[in-house]
Amino acid sequence: MRYFGSSGIRGIAYKEFTLDLASRIAFATASRYRDVVLGRDARLTGEAFTSAIAASLMSGGAEVCNVGIVTTPTLAYASRSRDCGVMVTASHNPPEYNGIKLWNPDGSSFDTRQMEEIESLMDRELLAADWKSVGTMTEDRNAISEHMSAILSRIGEARLKVVVDCANGPAALITPFVLERMGCRVITLNAHLDGRFPGRPPEPVEENLSSLRNAVLSLKADLGIAHDGDADRMVAIDDKGRYAGGDVLLKLFARELGVKSVVAPVDATMLLEDWFGQNVYRTRVGDAYVSEMVKQRGAMFGGEPSGTWVFPEISLCPDGIFAAAKLVEICAKKKLSELIDSLPSFPMLKETLRFDQSKRDTILANLEREIASMGLSRVDRTDGFRLSFEDGWALIRLSGTEPKMRIVVEARTVERAKEILAKMKSIAEVCVR
Ligand code: MG
Repeated sequence: MRYFGSSGIRGIAYKEFTLDLASRIAFATASRYRDVVLGRDARLTGEAFTSAIAASLMSGGAEVCNVGIVTTPTLAYASRSRDCGVMVTASHNPPEYNGIKLWNPDGSSFDTRQMEEIESLMDRELLAADWKSVGTMTEDRNAISEHMSAILSRIGEARLKVVVDCANGPAALITPFVLERMGCRVITLNAHLDGRFPGRPPEPVEENLSSLRNAVLSLKADLGIAHDGDADRMVAIDDKGRYAGGDVLLKLFARELGVKSVVAPVDATMLLEDWFGQNVYRTRVGDAYVSEMVKQRGAMFGGEPSGTWVFPEISLCPDGIFAAAKLVEICAKKKLSELIDSLPSFPMLKETLRFDQSKRDTILANLEREIASMGLSRVDRTDGFRLSFEDGWALIRLSGTEPKMRIVVEARTVERAKEILAKMKSIAEVCVR
């Protein structure tokens, strides 16, 4: 049976993501991985789920190292000296959610083959370990300081004033301290752990970051940093109070990091091809695919417009803390607003259409036919349909989780972008009917 999605398993705690399910994953994991590091974010159900998972891992014969409340990149980094890592988190989902994500020693999340292996083990009747070989659990409180040292050894000084919005999550235990050690004056928001997320919803989208924006402006800070609930994501606010989301930061990192190859999903800007030519590797939409491709191609950097950044020099896990430190280091040389204003930008238009989920297969077949009839030489099927034109591109894809068709268009001029979008919409409307 399929239990895992591209981001592990996530659902409403005790309804979709049950203790039984969590225990069975842990039991199956223990039969294959004997030395496991376990951590969690600050969600209210985290301790209960972690206890059940620890019990099942030990009962399956695994040794458990419990690192407590940490960010996802910290847990992934702590996996480097173990067989695997288990993180109990629901990332940026609302407070009633929880979930599990599994990690390899190189910081990559479990790939499809590994998840399928766990799924097939879950469907089998697994035997508990003999009483003499049940595992034990040790507590380790050094995971955060080790991750911090790893970041600081790769980063320079910066004497900036930075506001950090920790989303009431475990970012509060690491990001402000990393930036302080770099030489920054740090002011924190939502820096107490609270799984109810009283400060703001844990997704770092623009509408959730008005407090951060106000703080940056009123304190005249150089920039603001915002994380999601488990800090694998990072976005920013510039010194003028403008939101610097994933689209902007992807371009900024790609230009400023001095890398020669970049991995990005099919919906990210074509500027990357202008800059890196053949050394841009496109993936399906989702951070796990970006990380997989970075590993596969040996690329130097991978990014996703959702705000996830992969720096293989530290780990294959998207690391919001390392990304924050890198951004601050970059901003020590030039103001973030100036950096952003100097970035080229092509108009990008987005549109979402709803469709009847029961017609999904028919709609896909219709799209295939309609797009084939356009006679384009380049249609990329990495994720949905990505159509390349002389002066732009369009992506039509059906969401994997909702009955929504998303259209993204980018072109060198607004007129052309509008023209392509109109064409794509007319095709899409015919197909969903
Ligand atoms: Mg996350």
